[in-house]
Amino acid sequence: MASRKPKAKPANRQSVRHPSHNHPLRVFKAKEEDETACSGCELELIGQAFKCIKSDCDYFLHKSCFDLPSETHHKSHQDHPLTLLHSPPDERSVYTCDACDQYGSGFTYHCSNCNYNLHVGCTFIPETIDREDHEHPLTLLYCTPCKGHEDTIFTCSVCEETISEDLWMYYCKECDYGTHVHSCATYEDQESDEEEEEEDQDEDEEGEASSPASRIKSLMKARDEMAAMQLEARIDNDARNAALDLWDDPKRRYYW
Ligand SMILES: [Zn+2]
Ligand SMILES: [Zn+2]
Ligand SMILES: [Zn+2]
Ligand SMILES: [Zn+2]
Ligand SMILES: [Zn+2]
Ligand SMILES: [Zn+2]
Repeated sequence: MASRKPKAKPANRQSVRHPSHNHPLRVFKAKEEDETACSGCELELIGQAFKCIKSDCDYFLHKSCFDLPSETHHKSHQDHPLTLLHSPPDERSVYTCDACDQYGSGFTYHCSNCNYNLHVGCTFIPETIDREDHEHPLTLLYCTPCKGHEDTIFTCSVCEETISEDLWMYYCKECDYGTHVHSCATYEDQESDEEEEEEDQDEDEEGEASSPASRIKSLMKARDEMAAMQLEARIDNDARNAALDLWDDPKRRYYW
């Protein structure tokens, strides 16, 4: 290994290793038109990022996903810490996010005791948001206000579909107004220049510090692609999930 390489490759400035991937990564600037998705959070990738040095390997990571804490204590799951996994648990190809009920195939914050999984994007969504069409801020809830009340269901104030009681939502108590966390939530985002804004975040280790607003904006953009991917994933996983659902409470899905 110590001998000189036969051909001097064009200097790859620096490459770095990340435990999520077998090959080294290099710094990469993702442009919006590239339509790149992060292999960790599966959201759209714009700005400063990492890419696998192999040209035929489409492995990308947000800078913020490169630096994710390996463990986090999350308000939604107070009994146990959540551990960052770089792929779905139990060698499955997908997991279902307990925040938004959508599939994920990249990183997950996971509790093995409870088989609890969160998308990276969901883990760090803002705890309050403002929306232009509502006069009060909305607060993130980790279940609907109807949970525990047998005869009530919560209907999303935007899409008018039911939000199942164990899912997260944004809520204004004063008005009993609430929305799904992703598709129906809109985020006020100061960083409205999408181009080059994501690179100046030298936040420290705490996950909370990584700009949730920009994550979410990406998340919403990536949603259509995710939907397609998730549908595919769903087809070959339905059988397994159906088997599991026999043992869990039946899960309702309203997304498609
Ligand atoms: Zn990412
Ligand atoms: Zn690679
Ligand atoms: Zn999620
Ligand atoms: Zn747990
Ligand atoms: Zn909705
Ligand atoms: Zn209100």
